Amino acid sequence: MTYEPVIGLEVHAQLRTKAKIFCLCSTQFGSPPNTNTCPVCLGLPGALPVLNRSAVVMAVKTGMALNCKINQTSIFARKNYFYPDLPKGYQISQFDKPLAEFGYLNVIEDKQLKKIRIKRVHLEEDAGKSIHDGFSDSNRFSYIDLNRSGTPLIEIVSEPDIYSPTEAHSYLTKLKTILEYLEVCDGNMEEGSLRCDANVSVRPTGSNKLGTKTELKNLNSFRFLQKAIEYEIGRQIQTVQQGGIINQETRLWNSSDQRTIPMRSKEEAHDYRYFPEPDLPALVIDNNWQKKIQSEMPELPETKRKRFETQYSIPAYDAGVLTSTRALADFFEETARRSKNPKTTSNWIMGDLLRDLREFNLKIETSPITPSNLAELIDCIENKEISNKMAKEIFEIMFREKKSARKIIKEQGLKQITDPNEINKFIQGVITDNPKIYTEYKGGKKATFGFFVGQVMKATKGQANPKLVNELLKTALEE
Ligand code: ADP
Ligand code: MG
Ligand code: ZN
Repeated sequence: MTYEPVIGLEVHAQLRTKAKIFCLCSTQFGSPPNTNTCPVCLGLPGALPVLNRSAVVMAVKTGMALNCKINQTSIFARKNYFYPDLPKGYQISQFDKPLAEFGYLNVIEDKQLKKIRIKRVHLEEDAGKSIHDGFSDSNRFSYIDLNRSGTPLIEIVSEPDIYSPTEAHSYLTKLKTILEYLEVCDGNMEEGSLRCDANVSVRPTGSNKLGTKTELKNLNSFRFLQKAIEYEIGRQIQTVQQGGIINQETRLWNSSDQRTIPMRSKEEAHDYRYFPEPDLPALVIDNNWQKKIQSEMPELPETKRKRFETQYSIPAYDAGVLTSTRALADFFEETARRSKNPKTTSNWIMGDLLRDLREFNLKIETSPITPSNLAELIDCIENKEISNKMAKEIFEIMFREKKSARKIIKEQGLKQITDPNEINKFIQGVITDNPKIYTEYKGGKKATFGFFVGQVMKATKGQANPKLVNELLKTALEE
């Protein structure tokens, strides 16, 4: 019997608000421990939460971008559990009445558009952080930093509609892109502003009944997400094929051993004893507010991709790459607006620019080449001031020295030679210097033509316009 995997993802995204979700403390990452705290986020008795309006707006935008129904009324709930980094003894979250439900996200798998349903998007607060130090029993310390306590999060829960590790990867990539476009989350998995748990089960191929799932935690990179799911699918299939059963449990990805290990079973699972949060009123987002938020939605990746294809007449592939981040899309549009050829612009950005940025570990936001400088370079090519080959060299100098194309052309005397008289002089020189090959050509050995082209280009240090060289050489050699 063969088995197929079924996967559902739960993603926590840290919202990019300045203040925490229920108090005015800063959400700044990396502040000295416990400096961004107050009675509310320290969970002191009697302190009362006040909901941050911009966190609500960001959550609603996310719900809208994920095609969800936004609930006019949603309810905050207490999720009770004991942990040292949770000073109140409960987390304020949403339970049976979440902010948004019943959405979907499209991903492209094997060149096919695939719809993955979104179960819910809800708002909640983050807990603090425990830092464990020391490894022997007599010398072991744990520290608590409550700076993160009360940081606004949204949890985005997919339906079990994902059927492979690569599909899970595509889903998370797309989700991350959307969150970045919306400017609601910076998407940094390493710093923990985007966290993902994967629920994995297997079932006989073709069956429509779900198998028992395990929940994988500690997947703090895209690579680990894929690796952990791959491992877990293999483990589960092997287990059932050998007649074993899958225990419903939470497992941790151990990246040094490249395997998942059990963390807690269903029997030890938390009983959260949810109940409505008495210190907060119901969250009401009426039609007017929804309309206002809708009107502030930015253009999303799919719409932008389609617009790029039609507005700039570039291939779907180019449009996909260029809209992979909002910053890259903006860079392209700014350059294309200034240059006359969108396809050339796309080629330079997707080729040389992205390659160099990757090599020097830079982001498009910190590109040493600005859109106006790149547009100028493209202009020089389009106007035949320089050849493509020269442009490549100039590009590298631009990247290193942050100078404009025309400045480099002037400084290095790199202008393309387009004067036929001047090129003819070089041609005559090459013919005179190579009488033997010239005779061969005249004798019918036309393959030597390429040799002459090469020699002329060399003599002009690559500055002659290649098309003109070809034309003029033909005439000269046929004479
Ligand atoms: P729980 O109550 O255990 O948190 P939910 O029904 O809320 O379970 O689902 C949590 C996540 O697990 C969702 O992303 C959902 O798609 C996924 N999921 C649920 N059942 C399965 C299953 N049998 N196999 C894989 N994923 C599943
Ligand atoms: Mg769960
Ligand atoms: Zn606070």
